Amino acid sequence: MSDLSNNVVDSIGFAAELICKSKHTVILTGAGISTPSGIPDFRSEGTGLWSYDEPLEVASLSTFRYHPERFFEWMRPLVIRIINAQPNPAHIAIARMEQAGYVKAVITQNIDNLHQKAGSSNVYETHGSLASLTCTQCFQRTSSDPFIRPLIENGQIPYCQKCGSILKPNVILFGEQMPYDAWQAAQLTARSCDLMLVAGSSLEVLPVASLPMQALDRGAHLVIVNQTPTYLGVRADVLILEDVARVIPAIAECVLNG
Ligand SMILES: [Zn+2]
Repeated sequence: MSDLSNNVVDSIGFAAELICKSKHTVILTGAGISTPSGIPDFRSEGTGLWSYDEPLEVASLSTFRYHPERFFEWMRPLVIRIINAQPNPAHIAIARMEQAGYVKAVITQNIDNLHQKAGSSNVYETHGSLASLTCTQCFQRTSSDPFIRPLIENGQIPYCQKCGSILKPNVILFGEQMPYDAWQAAQLTARSCDLMLVAGSSLEVLPVASLPMQALDRGAHLVIVNQTPTYLGVRADVLILEDVARVIPAIAECVLNG
C-alpha cells in the first residue's frame, strides 16, 4: 500500500470499517476486475482482441442466428483467454472475505468464472457464463465441457446431441434480454444488502448499472472502487478511483486482520 496516496489509504480504511460494521455486504463486479487477469473489456475500443472486428455487431443475437460460424470464430479467442485466465488478487480477496463471513454475495457482469475459480460460492452471473450451453431448438441445457476443446482447437461449432441443432452459449449477447430469473435474483440480492461495494464496473451497462441505486434507495451504504468515474460517484460513501487489483486486496487485508 506504500505507494498509494494518503487519501486512498484513508479511504481503504474507511471502506474496511463499513464492511466490518455491515451485516449484509454484496459486491458488484464488472469488466475492470477481470482486465488484470488478461481478459479485455470488450466494450472498450482498441483492446487487441477485438480490434479486428466490430464486437457490438458480431457478439449479437442476430449474428449468432444468421452467421453462427462467424460468431463462434469471433468467440474462439475469447474462450481461449477465459479458459486460461487465472483469478487475480482482487478475486481472491473477495473470496477470502466471503469465506470469513464478511461478504454475502457477488453479483457479476463477467462471464469468465473467475470468482468461482478464486473460491467464491455465492455468485450471481447477470450476463450468464460460458459454463453451459442451451439448444436453440429443443432447449436442452448442457455443460460446455465436452465442446470447449473441439471449439478452441479446431473451431468446431457445438451441436445438440439430442436433436442436432446448434447450441448457444448461456451468455447474454447484444440485443438479447437478460433472463428473468437471473435478473430477479440479482435485484433481490441488491435490495437485501446494507452495503454494496462496486468493484471494477463503470456502471454504464443497464440494467445492472441500476442495482447500486436500488441498494441506495433502501438505505444501503455504497463503496465504489473503479479506475474511472461512474454516474454514482457523488452518492458513494467511499469513492476510490484506483486499480481494483491493488485496492480490493488492501481493503480485505484491513477487514481480515483488523
Ligand atoms: Zn436440441
